[in-house]
Amino acid sequence: MEKQQFKAESKRLLDLMIHSIYTNREIFLRELISNASDAIDKLCYKALTDDQVAVNREELAIRIVPDKEAGTLTISDNGIGMDRQALEENLGVIARSGSLSFKEEMSQAEGKPESDIDIIGQFGVGFYSAFMVSDTVTVTSRAYGSDTAYRWESSGADGYTITQCEKDTVGTDIQMKLKADTEEEKYAQYLEEYTLRNLIQKYSNYIRYPIKMDVTKSRPVEKAEGASGEDEPKYESYVENETLNDMVPIWHKSKGEVTDEAYNQFYKEKFYDYEDPILNIRVSTEGVVSYEALLFIPARTPYNYYTKEYEKGLQLYSSGVLIMEKCGDLLPEHFRFIRGVVDSQDLSLNISREMLQQDRQLQVIASSLEKKIKRELSKLLENDREKYEKFYQNFGLQLKYGVVNEYGEHKELLKDLLLFYSSTEQKLVTLAEYTARMKEEQKYVYYACGESAVKVDRLPQTEAVKEKGYEILYLTDEVDEFVMQVLHDLEGKEIKSVNSDDIVDEADKKNAEKQTKKNQKLLDFVKESLEGVKEVRISEKLKSHPVCLSSEGPVTLEMEKYFAQMNTPGEQAMKADRVLELNASHPMFEALSEAFASDQERAKKLSRVLYSQALLIAGFPIEDPTAYGDLICELLSGK
Ligand code: ADP
Repeated sequence: MEKQQFKAESKRLLDLMIHSIYTNREIFLRELISNASDAIDKLCYKALTDDQVAVNREELAIRIVPDKEAGTLTISDNGIGMDRQALEENLGVIARSGSLSFKEEMSQAEGKPESDIDIIGQFGVGFYSAFMVSDTVTVTSRAYGSDTAYRWESSGADGYTITQCEKDTVGTDIQMKLKADTEEEKYAQYLEEYTLRNLIQKYSNYIRYPIKMDVTKSRPVEKAEGASGEDEPKYESYVENETLNDMVPIWHKSKGEVTDEAYNQFYKEKFYDYEDPILNIRVSTEGVVSYEALLFIPARTPYNYYTKEYEKGLQLYSSGVLIMEKCGDLLPEHFRFIRGVVDSQDLSLNISREMLQQDRQLQVIASSLEKKIKRELSKLLENDREKYEKFYQNFGLQLKYGVVNEYGEHKELLKDLLLFYSSTEQKLVTLAEYTARMKEEQKYVYYACGESAVKVDRLPQTEAVKEKGYEILYLTDEVDEFVMQVLHDLEGKEIKSVNSDDIVDEADKKNAEKQTKKNQKLLDFVKESLEGVKEVRISEKLKSHPVCLSSEGPVTLEMEKYFAQMNTPGEQAMKADRVLELNASHPMFEALSEAFASDQERAKKLSRVLYSQALLIAGFPIEDPTAYGDLICELLSGK
């Protein structure tokens, strides 16, 4: 019988399929099972629309038959089947699929040879993937409503034959004569029960029809009556026709049907976590793009979460068939901690549809998911504060980065989700809670930075604001001050550091200016005695403490610490212009003035002590702790 040639484009794709090295050949099984499932769908649809067609739903199934002796793997379905013309059109041509033109475009765009582009990587190429693992593929099919069956056979690029044959039942058998094992690829594994079971669970677990295979099991042999119980139990093996897939994905079941425990179990198995998630989110949406999603927030921060190794993304399914293990495009950076699955019937399994369209659909899903996640987090914040705080402990930092990143583009979305420690409430509060409590005459929203809430609380420069009874937000993460800068204001009230000069009362300011003028010589002297201080001034903020450190210009002390940490060795990190603030009404200042008048050597020492103290309070190391200790002892002992 004369061989018919594949259409030119099919031939090229086939060549590619056979000769290029694909890392995941295993997906051929997913592709063929999907086709089988589609074929059964088509038959069911026909039965719905045509009274003449009767389908026994109980019997609909996909069967997998590995034959180790013959080296063949057969996938059978009792779906719609194909007649001669359909075999010819569907399996002899793939020009309609557009996958080749896509590949050409990609290769032009990326400047790579075509063979380097993994078209199967993300979306399948369907039936042709059988040739990745087979020498010969034989398709035996009988179309619904026809008595005649046909056999399509091909060994790859040299063409195919179609012959009439016998087949008792309607449907399609795809038999693959697997390739011989090579160093790189062990094709015989596709005949192993273990491999097949795993692949089906990995890729095709939620196919709506049972995927059946004969599996060998063992059971204890029943003991003959009267036999003594001492003997070792004997086992016998038997064959069972087992259904290997779950069929109905948990995310397709209605919410009431599934217990939280079942969701948690699913999460733990799927995402290899040993703890229950802190929250699960069910989404079922019909609209421009219909999809179902089941999302989870882990109870712990994954160990590599804040590193480059952590890969964000959701599992993407097309009608129950896994098409991507981690689809990063579905999640914005600020919600990258979310895990879960998305399933949409509107996504094509094959790249035969336009990639652009795929992108658009993904975007629609991604933006709807983002809104949903925000809503659910807000709900959690409102209804279960304790749980939210646990979440925030793990991923609050991510939300803050989200506010700062991309020039604050996402700040409106994220700011309601932020929590900061409050000076008056002594616990984490939201920004909305802060503004609701704000005093009428209060001009600014105040914050203070430090290593921990306890340490910030002791900062001298918080005194003035506290005295007025205003609430201060304590910032303890390095990114916090940047968050405040990006937010800029809350309901029109500017956010200011307690270090900022602007927050001081006119009266205090005038008084400090007066004092500064009066003591200018002393202040200049102190500055001369110290290294690395830009300015020394009389403080407007200090009430009971003698000294504090602040800064001038755009780089604050907290930013300096942040930059120092980020900095690559050898590079000069950005530094704050340091200002030493002295409390003119403190006895220490008096002592300093006296020394300046009578004993300048002593005044120098006192200046050094004050600066060292200011550094320590601000959370900076002092350069020479030993010298500092000696100096204190010397001053205390008077010797
Ligand atoms: P796609 O599934 O994207 O259409 P394929 O190359 O996988 O591309 O299959 C081409 C066509 O062959 C299918 O659209 C379908 O019409 C037909 N086909 C493939 N497998 C089967 C099957 N098991 N039963 C019936 N028709 C099938």
